[in-house]
Formats: sequence, structure tokens, C-alpha cells
Amino acid sequence: MAVIGAGVVGLSTALWLQRYGHQVEIIDPAPPLPGMDFRRAASFGNAATIAPNAIFPVASPGILWKVPGMLLDKEGPFSLYWRDLPDLLPWLSAFILSSRKPRFDHLTSCLATLMRHIEVGHAPLMAEVGDIRLGRGTGSLHLYRSEAELKSAHVAMVRRNQEGIRGDILTAAQIREREPNLAQEYYGGALFHDAYVLDDPEAYCHGLARAIIARGGSFTRGSAEDLEINGAGLTVRTSLGLIKSDRVVLSAGAWSRDLARRSGQSLNLNTERGYHVSFTSQKELLSHPVMYPSDGFFLVPMAGEIRAAGTVELGGLDKPTRPVRLEVLERKARRMLPGLGTKRSDWLGFRPSTPDSLPFIGPSLRDPRLFFACGHGHLGLTLGGITGKLIAALVSGEKPELDLAPFSPGRSTSGLRLADPCPRHNPSRRRGS
Ligand SMILES: Cc1cc2nc3c(=O)[nH]c(=O)nc-3n(C[C@H](O)[C@H](O)[C@H](O)COP(=O)(O)OP(=O)(O)OC[C@H]3O[C@@H](n4cnc5c(N)ncnc54)[C@H](O)[C@@H]3O)c2cc1C
Repeated sequence: MAVIGAGVVGLSTALWLQRYGHQVEIIDPAPPLPGMDFRRAASFGNAATIAPNAIFPVASPGILWKVPGMLLDKEGPFSLYWRDLPDLLPWLSAFILSSRKPRFDHLTSCLATLMRHIEVGHAPLMAEVGDIRLGRGTGSLHLYRSEAELKSAHVAMVRRNQEGIRGDILTAAQIREREPNLAQEYYGGALFHDAYVLDDPEAYCHGLARAIIARGGSFTRGSAEDLEINGAGLTVRTSLGLIKSDRVVLSAGAWSRDLARRSGQSLNLNTERGYHVSFTSQKELLSHPVMYPSDGFFLVPMAGEIRAAGTVELGGLDKPTRPVRLEVLERKARRMLPGLGTKRSDWLGFRPSTPDSLPFIGPSLRDPRLFFACGHGHLGLTLGGITGKLIAALVSGEKPELDLAPFSPGRSTSGLRLADPCPRHNPSRRRGS
């Protein structure tokens, strides 16, 4: 089997395919292997947080009225390049349609269902990779600066609790007790007990790649340029030559859209650019991943650094870093945690985002031998493992453990065509775990 793309989603899928008994060849011009530069992948520099509490789609009710204000605020968490508007229109219109309350509720249920399965996707892979340190046990902390923000957090917590997410609302004093070094400006917070942090998401991807090689998998360090489908099988034209395969998984993150189009399937996928700035870490300055949601980034204690990562910029795949976004991120991080040390590094990454915040997991409408595992937006690290397991089950002709209709590459991402069915839990026999 060929897997296109070696970010956390492609790698997790390849390793799950091997666990189900398939041979894999991964195609990526810059995979996480010694001597290669993995920085272009979103999986390189994310906020490292496995976040089962992140069940709400980005397009929330009322967002249409908030966006103009966010765009006018040069320091806000959201920005776009106006000249990209024509390319963005299908995505933005589906995004706005996804924010209608009934649709938002439906999408929340879909994401929550997927979240309930993340550990069966991750645990076997993490055990196989070994040598990773997980910041477990603290949970993650969302902060609020006003009574109004905390009230909304209460409402969201009720919904989360209904979906089985464990969390509590905290007072300002309880926040200070847990994180005494944070600025004393938070009115309250929410603690999500089951979230945890990977010490180093890049190292995890290297570990996955090593595990794949140890099982006999191979890497072609070239770029997939075209996908041809015919009776005999699928042919991937790469920068290094043709690769023929009986089945192919497309998991090239934000770069999947053009390859999908070449295969005859259109995907409503765009990129939400995000940044990180990392700081030298002082011991015990921070113990949880913390987020002030209105600023749109996480501050995360990691191996040897504290990383501020997040914000959203609709800007395609080719434009350079915008220094002003990094400056704002750094300033806001220092406001949140005044004791932060010196800046160590920064990074721009490309989230592969769908307008309805659900990933594409499933076969192509054009040919059932082509599978899509892309579009994980803000949650690819969280959802990589379960995505891989679901794809491996499909490829093996098994019934996956949940209904994948809401994640179908052929769904309407605006919800305007037929209503997407709600996911149903479908316990099936476990394999390969
Ligand atoms: C600032 C920021 C913070 C984030 N924080 C979190 C977080 O805390 N938790 C979380 O769950 N998620 C987080 N995310 C999201 C997460 O990082 C992504 O959803 C995830 O990394 C996507 O993984 P992927 O494998 O789909 O894509 P990528 O990691 O982008 O990998 C795609 C791969 O495809 C390859 N490729 C591209 N074109 C081709 C081609 N033509 N042929 C072959 N290969 C190709 C690339 O080289 C790359 O290696 C964050 C993202 C950002 C930007």
C-alpha cells in the first residue's frame, strides 16, 4: 500500500496498516527521518496537546458577527489575506453555514464521538514507539478574564459533560493555586482532566517512522505529483518515478486538496496557518498546557521549552511568515506568563482545515481503492491514531468501530445537501491493538 504524506496522520495510518498486516511504502519529500527537514509539516511544531475536550467546531454560532471585529483587530487571533478571497469563498461559505446552531450541535456530536475513541488509536502506537514522555495527570487549563466569558464556559462545560468529557470550572484562587506564575488577571478557568501533552511532537513522528521501518515499511523521499486510477490499480507519479499500488491513502495534510483533485475528487479543504514561538524553560514556571481562548493559542510546558502555539491566518501554502503575527504571539504569551525566558525559536505551520472541523476519513467517491485521511485542522495530533485505525479497518474490509458517514470525503461540508447522519457507536472486534 502507498501512503502519501508522513505527518502524524500519515505515519499513524501507515503503522496501523502494518499492524493489520499490510506492507506500506510512504511517499514524502521531507519525512521525519535523520537528516531530513520536517519543519514544513504541521506535525512538527504544533501545541503538542492531546485534547479530547476539543469537541466544538471552530465555526460556532454567532461567529459571523465576530469575524469582522477580529479582522479589524491587528492583534486578534484571526487574520486573512484579502487577495485569497476568491479561492477561499467555497470554504468560507461552508464555514459560515456550519455555524448554524443545529448544525453546530450535530458537528459537536460527531467530533465528540471521534474523541471517545482517541485512546484506542493512540495507546498501541505510543507503546510501540516507546521512548516518549507524556505530560499526563495535570489536564489542560482554559482561562477567562471576565464573568461573561466564564458564564459561556459553564454552558460549554455542561455540553462537554453530557458528551462524557471530564472537566471542572475553577475560581481565580484555584487557578493561582495550580499555576502561581500566571498573570493575576484571570476571573476563572476550566480544567479538562483527560488532556495531556507530548514532550516533543517532532520526536514522536520520528519514533513512528522508526517503528514503521522496524516493521519493514519503506520511505520514498519524493513528492507525489499525480494520481492515476485504472483497472489494474493506482499509480502515483512522484518526483522520483512511478509507484504502482493496489491501494493508496492520501494523507498529505494541507497539500491533499490538489492531489485529491487530480484523482477526480474535490475536497473542501484549505489551510489555517498557525505559529509558534518557543521560550527557554525555567523549571516549574508552568505545569499545565494553558489557553486563553480569546487569544487563540496554547502555552505549553514541553521538553526543554515552553511553547506558545496557535492563532489562525487564512493565507494559503506559499506566503512567507508574517513577523507581526510572531511579535503579537510573543507579547501575548509574556502577558499571560510574565516570567517567560528568552525566545528560542519560531515557526509557521499549515493546518489542513475543513469548514465543518471534521476530518476526511474514508474512501474516495471516485474509486474505493483510494482512501483519504486528511483535513484534521486543529486536531491532527489528537486524532491521528484513531484515524489510522479506522482507515486500516476499512482497507482490510472490516467494519470500523464507528459510523464514518459524517467524515466521508463525499459529504457536504456546508450541511446543505442531505443532512449528514449522526455517528453511531459500533463496537466491533478489536484487532491489532
Ligand atoms: C500552531 C499549531 C498548533 C497546533 N496544536 C495542536 C495541538 O495541540 N493538538 C492537536 O491535536 N493538533 C494541533 N495542531 C494541528 C496538527 O498539528 C495538525 O492537524 C496535524 O499535524 C496534521 O497532520 P497531517 O499529517 O495531516 O499533516 P502534516 O503534519 O502537515 O503532514 C503533511 C505531510 O505531507 C507531506 N506532503 C506535502 N505535499 C506532498 C506531496 N505532494 N507528496 C508527498 N508528501 C507531501 C509534507 O511534507 C508533510 O510531511 C496544531 C497546528 C498548528 C499549526
